[in-house]
Amino acid sequence: MPSESALTIDNLDPSTGLVYSKIARGSATEVGQAVKAAQKAFPEWSQKSAIERSAILHRIADLIAEQSQRLAAAESKDNGKPVSLARKIDIPRAEQNFRFFANIIVAFESEAHSMPDAINYTTRKPLGVVGCISPWNLPLYLFSWKIAPALAAGNTVVAKPSEITPYTAFLLSKICQEAGLPKGVLNIVHGFGHETGQAIVEHPDIKAISFTGGTQTGKKIAATAAPMFKKLSLELGGKNPNIIFEDADLEEAISTSIRSSFANQGEICLCGSRILIHQSIYEAFKEAFVQKVDALKVGDPKEDSNFMGAIVSEDHYYKILSYIQLAKEEGGVILSGGNSLKPEGRCANGFFIRPTVIEGLDQQCRTNTEEIFGPVVTLQPFSNEEEAIMKANGVQYGLSASIWTQNLQRAHRVADQLEAGVIWVNTWLHRDLRTPFGGTKSSGVGREGGKEALRFFTEAKNICIKY
Ligand code: NAD
Repeated sequence: MPSESALTIDNLDPSTGLVYSKIARGSATEVGQAVKAAQKAFPEWSQKSAIERSAILHRIADLIAEQSQRLAAAESKDNGKPVSLARKIDIPRAEQNFRFFANIIVAFESEAHSMPDAINYTTRKPLGVVGCISPWNLPLYLFSWKIAPALAAGNTVVAKPSEITPYTAFLLSKICQEAGLPKGVLNIVHGFGHETGQAIVEHPDIKAISFTGGTQTGKKIAATAAPMFKKLSLELGGKNPNIIFEDADLEEAISTSIRSSFANQGEICLCGSRILIHQSIYEAFKEAFVQKVDALKVGDPKEDSNFMGAIVSEDHYYKILSYIQLAKEEGGVILSGGNSLKPEGRCANGFFIRPTVIEGLDQQCRTNTEEIFGPVVTLQPFSNEEEAIMKANGVQYGLSASIWTQNLQRAHRVADQLEAGVIWVNTWLHRDLRTPFGGTKSSGVGREGGKEALRFFTEAKNICIKY
């Protein structure tokens, strides 16, 4: 639906650099209309049984599965990611998000606490109208990760996808209609963050904001929402370490580090952008890692043989290139990549960057402390466990970390001391949707996933009855 102002935003295919569609530029007017529709739909939706809501969410999941090829193609065109990745990761995960919350909402229990002379029971009611705002890197995957628990818990939703990758959110709106989601239960408003997003955060009748995006935006949202006492879940940026100890399974650590550095063009909040390597294996790791990076294929996202596609937008492309320039100025040595790429043919004007590996930088420099969010990774040696932990924790972020060691005691000890919300040992991005997900420090506030998400989207009320 067009916005009342009829203003639009150009939507680009980053692999060609060409505008291929226009999206509505929603304003506070459309957000206000969406809130009204959501308020109207709330009584009926919230009073449905969990089983009834679950059935509709399962139907949405079924339709995502049925339309997975179309959705994967849309995601790839909008974001620049390889269509093979969208087929394997993004779209199946969006389906799972709806399926998972459809399943667990029917098993979501409330608590009772007995006292010698009384019983307490706690109810958990939906909040009302809630806001969900998501970024461009995993568009449908993260959009559905918020919407599914919000709906499962009985809320009605006003949601905004990133203006940079709106296509699959639009397709989801069609799927929800087809699945029989009642009118007004999910209201997707397209538009810019500072206009539509800001209007969602400012709206007094939106009770909670679930946000995933950059740390600066998170700060702004917190400043706006806090005086209104809105519930807030903020999933923000990261600068995650991969710590490779001398007893690591080197082959496994290297092949996983390739993925954790460059999957989705390095545009995953969980990507390990700082690889810390024990000095005794530094050279061996570096040589094998760089050899593999040199061989990575970058190009047309439509071709399955390409491991990396295009950077999501022209602005982001220049931002990443400016960080590579900064790394050189800071004294970094480029071991692989370090440059943009112009594939021949269809993608000649797209935004492509070679996977880039840099060494020779100290922990405090900007390249090693600021989030680049692209295919750029640094290597740093360490001499002992203490130094590894100090370097790993030496940034403002605290989202995730990977530890590579065969020593069980060390794995536990280091995991315990790392300042991050998500730690992997001898793996990366190994996800169980029941586990709490989120960051510490400037990586965010609150946790998503499993019951944490259902608790966020409900209000607890305790009732104490004296015998
Ligand atoms: P962003 O903060 O620029 O935008 C995210 C969303 O917020 C978009 O929909 C945008 O339109 C909206 N927005 C912007 N300004 C707003 C405002 N004032 N009020 C309300 N909404 C506003 O982030 P991005 O560039 O889209 O995404 C990249 C960032 O997201 C990176 O920092 C990355 O680490 C982070 N991220 C974090 C996680 C996580 O789970 N922690 C996951 C994915 C991405």
